[in-house]
Amino acid sequence: MNLNLKDKVVVITGGGAGIGHASAEAFRAEGAKVVVWDVVSEPKIDVTSKASIESAAAAVISEHGRIDVLVNNAGIVRDAQLVKWKDGEILSTMDDATFDAVINVNLKGVFLCTRAVAPHMIRQGSGVILNASSIVGLYGNFGQTNYAATKAGVISFTQTWARELGRFGIRVNAVAPGFIATEMVKAMPEKALGSMVARTPLAKLGDPADVANAYVWLASDAARFISGTVLSVDGGLVLGT
Ligand code: NAD
Repeated sequence: MNLNLKDKVVVITGGGAGIGHASAEAFRAEGAKVVVWDVVSEPKIDVTSKASIESAAAAVISEHGRIDVLVNNAGIVRDAQLVKWKDGEILSTMDDATFDAVINVNLKGVFLCTRAVAPHMIRQGSGVILNASSIVGLYGNFGQTNYAATKAGVISFTQTWARELGRFGIRVNAVAPGFIATEMVKAMPEKALGSMVARTPLAKLGDPADVANAYVWLASDAARFISGTVLSVDGGLVLGT
């Protein structure tokens, strides 16, 4: 199968760690030119900053002349119950700052990056946009009001942009990982993680490379007639079962 990714210019947000880092390696292994936008990389690029993203996109165009693939992978979690209730008392609620922080990175960041990159893809008459959703964007999750909403929102972005951009030769898809062994997931309570593994038919956590491979395949010519879809990479896990 010819993936045809050699010399393609691939921008990966959050490519400094976890799934993004594994994705950068996987695209490089196919001969792609990878540019990482991350707050932990140099130069620091924050997906929540419109100015930072617009100048980063302009810098890629001036260096490489094009952007073939955008992987909107950067994401954070800030978990809290909507209302934590015990013995007739409210112990805590999800506060505004916790809600806004996750919306800003996971949802507005995807919007800002795609809005900055899409005009270049339209001019080229080609491009692939890949969005990091999550299994929790499909099924919801306890303690993740903010995060689950962003991951469902990213699916709506995917479907909407597939409709708007398809006529310019641009494909837009999302990946919905289950539980993948990265820092984000290792921060989860051990009990919650154990119960997720117990409900996964393949009986293990995923590896960042498993998601990276899905991005590479979706970005490649092998997936040239696939747009507007959400690919689950979750070992068969269905939350709530
Ligand atoms: P991670 O925490 O290991 O890495 C996330 C990267 O994003 C980090 O390098 C971080 O610096 C970067 N980042 C955070 N805020 C940023 C910002 N404002 N601007 C630029 N970069 C920023 O996370 P991960 O587990 O690799 O997850 C990657 C993506 O996959 C996220 O969108 C996450 O929601 C999604 N996802 C992960 C899992 C999982 O099990 N790990 C499951 C489903 C979905």
